[in-house]
Amino acid sequence: MRPASIHRKFAPALAIWLVAASCTGLEPSALPDGAVPMAAPAQYSEWYARTEACAELSGALEGIEWYVVPDVATFETSIGEKVGLWERVGDVSRITIAGYYVENEMVVRHEMLHDLLERTGHPPEYFVNRCHLTWESWDAAES
Ligand SMILES: [Zn+2]
Repeated sequence: MRPASIHRKFAPALAIWLVAASCTGLEPSALPDGAVPMAAPAQYSEWYARTEACAELSGALEGIEWYVVPDVATFETSIGEKVGLWERVGDVSRITIAGYYVENEMVVRHEMLHDLLERTGHPPEYFVNRCHLTWESWDAAES
């Protein structure tokens, strides 16, 4: 892990796309088709705090712009069908969630963890060991 990733350093005009379970890649910063702005549900404050705690990182929930693609289980991106997407656009963290998953703690907190780490990819120390924010490790932790 790069030490700088634990600090709030903003990459210049850089858009990073990703998704729960299988995200990687660099793409331009257009919103997914059908994405509309969403006020973060009240629940997200607790989820963000819980994600900061398991990762032992601190971030700024208010620095995230939220979008939802209503009434879908996945949305199309240039790297395939996704349930969630985190991008860094200028100094803003942008998270888009498929409508069916806006109340899914794993999906939402998975994207929050990308925000805290400020990176794509899934270092197992964070996504598996510390926070259980992959489908497989989440299910194992819940059962
Ligand atoms: Zn991811």
